[in-house]
Amino acid sequence: SASSRDKDKSVNVQVLLRCRPFSEDELRSNAPQVVTCNDFQKEVAVSQTIAGKQIDRVFTFDKVFGPCAKQKDLYEQAIVPIVNEVLEGFNCTIFAYGQTGTGKTHTMEGECRRAKSGPKGQLPVDAGVIPRAVKQIFDALEGQHTEYSVKVTFLELYNEEITDLLAPEELSKISLEDKQKKQLPLMEDGKGGVLVRGLDEEIVTCADEIFSLLERGSSKRRTAETLLNKQSSRSHSLFSITIHIKEATPEGEELIKCGKLNLVDLAGSENISRSGAREGRAREAGEINKSLLTLGRVITALVEHLGHIPYRDSKLTRLLRDSLGGRTKTCIIATVNQKMMKSTLIKDLYGEIDRLK
Ligand code: ADP
Ligand code: MG
Repeated sequence: SASSRDKDKSVNVQVLLRCRPFSEDELRSNAPQVVTCNDFQKEVAVSQTIAGKQIDRVFTFDKVFGPCAKQKDLYEQAIVPIVNEVLEGFNCTIFAYGQTGTGKTHTMEGECRRAKSGPKGQLPVDAGVIPRAVKQIFDALEGQHTEYSVKVTFLELYNEEITDLLAPEELSKISLEDKQKKQLPLMEDGKGGVLVRGLDEEIVTCADEIFSLLERGSSKRRTAETLLNKQSSRSHSLFSITIHIKEATPEGEELIKCGKLNLVDLAGSENISRSGAREGRAREAGEINKSLLTLGRVITALVEHLGHIPYRDSKLTRLLRDSLGGRTKTCIIATVNQKMMKSTLIKDLYGEIDRLK
């Protein structure tokens, strides 16, 4: 509604929808198309047949990127202004939220390899938000000739436990037991923020370096997936870029601007649905839900201007505390496919996304 839209603006939370093109399997399957996008009208129609009766609903988003939208379109239309805020010294967060297989990782990371052809610094067409953001940051900083630094961290949150995706050990060579020992503790930093003890912070000196970091992190995530049985659909990954820029004021004083961009590839939203929780692995499901559920509550509390924001209730929201609310911008990219085959998953779209808007 118009009023909830106005409320959103005042807290700087925008919700976009991205719908991926059909996969080969979906093209072959007889399942009906249930999602239809109208990018121009910023609308998505969802139709569902329940007990022989067709129910249609239309949802409006801040922006809609249908199956034809490319990585570049989404980046230029939705992400560029957010990265500009970070360059001005603010903290911002971008989430990819949706069921497993709808394109969260494609949207955030996309093609992880460096472009083979073309001039240096050129991105592959399928590069996602992370490499594009790094490129935008370096393009801006290198043009300014100021002193600056860019640092990144990449961690995974699984079962409320943190592991470092950039740490040098080869995960494939260590046992599951060793992996459990690699969990990093989250601590208060005494200044109202938190820090992850032992987390690798990599200094990046040019945009191209991002590809080897992403490859390292993603291959570690994939190895963990085989070790821990499809872990990645149940884990969150958080890629953070922190920039410090030294500037001189007109009075000749030195000023350090610090901005942070958090890029979050959330656990599959099926992990939040009631059916998912019922299917068991009780504690694990509960712990996984904890960060997703708390995130939903935190964003709702921010959008509705509630007095108490329950940041402390999960690790993910503790990690993002300085980057959600206040003078920050938050962008949620809800990812869907056009043939969502289980009705519970459509409920996700009706329920969760509708609530966040
Ligand atoms: P998720 O991370 O949500 O589980 P993925 O990003 O792994 O989903 O996407 C699932 C599959 O769909 C991958 O093979 C991916 O390359 C493909 N895909 C996702 N989004 C798009 C898109 N917009 N265009 C083309 N292929 C896509
Ligand atoms: Mg993924």
